[in-house]
Amino acid sequence: MVVALRLLRYVWALPNTLVGLVLGVIALLGGGRWRIHLGVVEFYGGRVGAAVAALPRVLGFSAMTLGHVILAVDRSALAQLRRHEHVHVRQYERWGPLFVPAYLLSSLVQLLRGRNPYRENHFERQAYALAPARYRDRPARPRVAE
Ligand SMILES: [Zn+2]
Repeated sequence: MVVALRLLRYVWALPNTLVGLVLGVIALLGGGRWRIHLGVVEFYGGRVGAAVAALPRVLGFSAMTLGHVILAVDRSALAQLRRHEHVHVRQYERWGPLFVPAYLLSSLVQLLRGRNPYRENHFERQAYALAPARYRDRPARPRVAE
């Protein structure tokens, strides 16, 4: 029974996991690495990770979860954000294919209220409460002398 429930969680989250696997394979083609940890496929590093890390803050991320896949810009980000991302894995197991629309709707509601659509997102608030993310996602840019 426990095995059947666990399998059902993987099947329910599978559409998102497949998207994550496609992105993970793209990361591998750019020199990224992968591993399986606690039932989750993790991809990190490589040129894709470096490119994402270099994006402007509003577009970039240090790690993200899609179903049972975690994508991180590098090994350090993965290690520091793993617990937080695993809260998102549990959310995907609960919400399945509805997770991404629900996540986006939550961000939209916060944005329309004039709040931060990321930090005030219901799912992020839950993830930060259960597993605070302490990763400083990128060093401060050096000041340019004029
Ligand atoms: Zn998060």
